[in-house]
Amino acid sequence: MINHTCFKCKRRFELDPVFVGFELSKLNKKKPSYYQAVCPACRAINKVSVSQMQAELDSVADEIQAMMADYEKKKAEAKVEAQAEREAKSEK
Ligand SMILES: [Zn+2]
Repeated sequence: MINHTCFKCKRRFELDPVFVGFELSKLNKKKPSYYQAVCPACRAINKVSVSQMQAELDSVADEIQAMMADYEKKKAEAKVEAQAEREAKSEK
């Protein structure tokens, strides 16, 4: 787990590196420099530097990749479903 202290309320909270990596992958940026974490206590957006978390992210790279593959698959399925729905509607 990645420990982070909120810049605003100084509360410490944990970030799941798999989730962070997944969110970063979804940004579609080659090299995101920070992750925007929302503080669970005060909802402030904390910019957490990616380089600071790199070791943690690298250690779960496989899990991140699996999660991303699953996400892409679901996204593709949803697209097919939406397409089928549109076609079903136009047939009426
Ligand atoms: Zn806070």
